[in-house]
Amino acid sequence: MAKYVLVSGGAGYIGSHVTVELLNAGYEVIVADNMSNCDETCYEGVKKITGRADLPLIKMDFCDLEATRKLFKEHQIDAVIHFAAFKAVGESVAEPLKYYKNNLESFVNVITAAHENGGCNILFSSSATVYGEPEKLPVTEKSPRQPATSPYGETKQISEDILSACVKAYTTDGIIKGIALRYFNPIGAHPSALIGELPRGVPNNLVPFITQTAIGKRECLSIFGNDYPTPDGTCLRDYIDVVDLAKAHVAAVSRMLDGKMEESYEVFNVGTGRPVSVLELVNSFEKVNNVKLNYRFTDRRAGDVMSVYADPSLANEKLGWKAERSIDETLESAWKWEKSLAGKE
Ligand code: UDP
Repeated sequence: MAKYVLVSGGAGYIGSHVTVELLNAGYEVIVADNMSNCDETCYEGVKKITGRADLPLIKMDFCDLEATRKLFKEHQIDAVIHFAAFKAVGESVAEPLKYYKNNLESFVNVITAAHENGGCNILFSSSATVYGEPEKLPVTEKSPRQPATSPYGETKQISEDILSACVKAYTTDGIIKGIALRYFNPIGAHPSALIGELPRGVPNNLVPFITQTAIGKRECLSIFGNDYPTPDGTCLRDYIDVVDLAKAHVAAVSRMLDGKMEESYEVFNVGTGRPVSVLELVNSFEKVNNVKLNYRFTDRRAGDVMSVYADPSLANEKLGWKAERSIDETLESAWKWEKSLAGKE
């Protein structure tokens, strides 16, 4: 019998890639999104890639508890992947209440409805931001979580704690089981170039800024700081391909639904284990796509950590998952996506 996965925030960047991989793996998917940070481009792309013109899209806000309850009552939901959240670090500093309210309320509502409805498996979309500036690299799941540097990061930490507490508390009726996946830096797009990242306004993240500069939408990429004590002076990150990341979700959902969890609440790093500097990424982008990028070095960006990259061995071992795409393939896919967007304009 088919298993049903609710993907909250499923019309967005990561949610749409996860939906494709879930459908490819034979799961049924219910996409739900309030469309506050995306249009239907990726949802339409998912339907094209998978040939599933019947894929449901439920437009709803998970901050609406009654609507969330109704969703759980009216559908078979074997697992939830919860993406529905705001994600701009800078905005969260300027408008903290917007972040605490939306990100925490929506997640509490999902768990509440799942619990009341007889229980559920819940996969939470967490982030490497929970580690802050790590003392030791690479970070393992046992590395201490440092104080968050933004309200956004704090909502990720608090959400992990909410999930873990509910798993601990609800063990007889309405049982909750949970997995938190801590993503490092998701980049790239589906090789079809039918889905990808669609940032609104000026991008905050590095790769959308690179592709928009290369296509001529932005004049010049600022590389924030070249005086860090790293090999080339620029920050080190662990860039994870979005399709690889999506496959980690399928592995985690299968682990939950096939009864393979060793604990009722588990945490996994989802990264490559490979540190890449900003400058290396820029150079690779230019080389693999044969484009020249206009960039300059500027001051460090407030709030940036110098280096963070994963030890992904727990996910490799327990989820049977490993990042596969090379950084070059990923940067090619990002450029193909940007060009396909330009073709649409
Ligand atoms: N970065 C940059 N210029 C930009 C955007 C980002 O130099 O326009 C750098 C940033 O300082 C960091 C890395 O790229 O070292 C990744 O930043 P991003 O915002 O993509 O992700 P973060 O690691 O902050 O979550």
